[in-house]
Amino acid sequence: MSLRTQLSLLYALLAGVILAVLGLIVYTLVSVILVDQIDRSLTQTAHALISCTRVNAAGEIAIESIPSLGATSTTYIQFWDTRGKLKASSDNLGNLQLSLDPNGLRYPTTVFRDTRLNQASLRVLSVPLQVEGRRMAVLQVGTNREIVDQLQQILATVLGIALAISITMAALYGWLGTGLVLAPLEKATLAARNIANKDDLSRRIPNVSQKNEIGILIEAFNQTLDRLEDIFNKQKRFIADVSHELRTPLTVIKGNAGLLRKMKVPDEESLQGIETEVDRLTRMVGDLLLLAQGEAGRLELNMQPVDLDVLLLEVLQQAKVLSGGKVGFQIADIEQVRVSGDRDRLKQVMINLITNAVKYTPAGGQVGLSIKNVESQAQLMISDTGPGIPAADLPHIFERFYRGDKARTRPADGSSYGLGLSIVDWIIKCHGGRIEVKSREGVGTIFLVWLPLAGGM
Ligand code: ADP
Repeated sequence: MSLRTQLSLLYALLAGVILAVLGLIVYTLVSVILVDQIDRSLTQTAHALISCTRVNAAGEIAIESIPSLGATSTTYIQFWDTRGKLKASSDNLGNLQLSLDPNGLRYPTTVFRDTRLNQASLRVLSVPLQVEGRRMAVLQVGTNREIVDQLQQILATVLGIALAISITMAALYGWLGTGLVLAPLEKATLAARNIANKDDLSRRIPNVSQKNEIGILIEAFNQTLDRLEDIFNKQKRFIADVSHELRTPLTVIKGNAGLLRKMKVPDEESLQGIETEVDRLTRMVGDLLLLAQGEAGRLELNMQPVDLDVLLLEVLQQAKVLSGGKVGFQIADIEQVRVSGDRDRLKQVMINLITNAVKYTPAGGQVGLSIKNVESQAQLMISDTGPGIPAADLPHIFERFYRGDKARTRPADGSSYGLGLSIVDWIIKCHGGRIEVKSREGVGTIFLVWLPLAGGM
């Protein structure tokens, strides 16, 4: 069942229940008030008649006279003895010998009852009259209650019609009203279907009702599409980048293999070429695996207390050897700083950042290092006097396979393929830290890594 039908039925049901309860209250109140009026008038008449009774010499109750009421009067009076004999009755009853209320005659107390006599609907008051505690006679005063019946019937009809009209109106209002409210949602559904059918993630749902819940839903849906489109494009770019990066070493390997076959004797240079490219491929696949694990949240960290100052000095020794004196290293501050983390991964962060600094800084430049405790956080700084990173590149350097223009030409050692900083970023994030970069073209670059101290030191 559609939401529109459900809401319409709900409105109709609600209107029906409210009106039925109200109608029942009105009907009951009117009936009670009218019957109470009749009962009061019957009681008054009965009191007047009782005051006209007397006890005769035989000890029986007799009524002096029943006043003439006229043939058109709707009030009827009967005076019965205890043996069920009619002693007197009002003249408008003619010589009717039937009781106005035969059951009322047997009641030990005063009773009001609704009866029917010759098709007429009556309200009858039966009053047992007693002498010294003995029931001696019964006075019955009745009146036609046709008017009350008619009124009740009219009231029931009017309330019934009002109930039917209000249920129809509520259902109609529900149908039209919800149709109006749900129209943007239907448009949104149609637009969403179009997007799905045409596989076009660049489309968006036009938001016509921005302020209500539906507008918020459409906005959220469009934001999801933005995010999906972004992920999808990144995915496409990633596949293109991987294919591009794999093609070159594979071509080199194939070329060298062909050369070896032609020469028939092992050629050292070709073998070296193959080995270099295989190493490069192995490194790249390893890096990609690490990134994939990081992004899938499955990067397993062997957490333990790590002294960053000791680790930095260890990496520095290796870097000095690897740089072969191309740049000079300067240590600004080395404070004792302990963090909780995976030693090998944190070492990888330092190696990647220092390798980049060495790689991009021209020969004779300087690479600065420091490790400090700043505002209860570990701060690792790696600076260089290299070419700097253009402002346009800065927001992208942590993306996979992103390489700045100056680095587009891969260094001869094939070490640059744009994954180094992505890995650094992921490792730092997994340790609950963050990385900042400040760079000025022609001056140099500073990378700042912030990590939480072990046990909140
Ligand atoms: P790559 O393998 O190209 O070095 P990275 O992810 O490590 O990949 O770095 C991404 C890009 O950031 C580099 O291509 C380079 O343009 C820029 N970059 C990184 N570190 C430095 C640095 N110290 N000096 C200048 N540019 C840098």
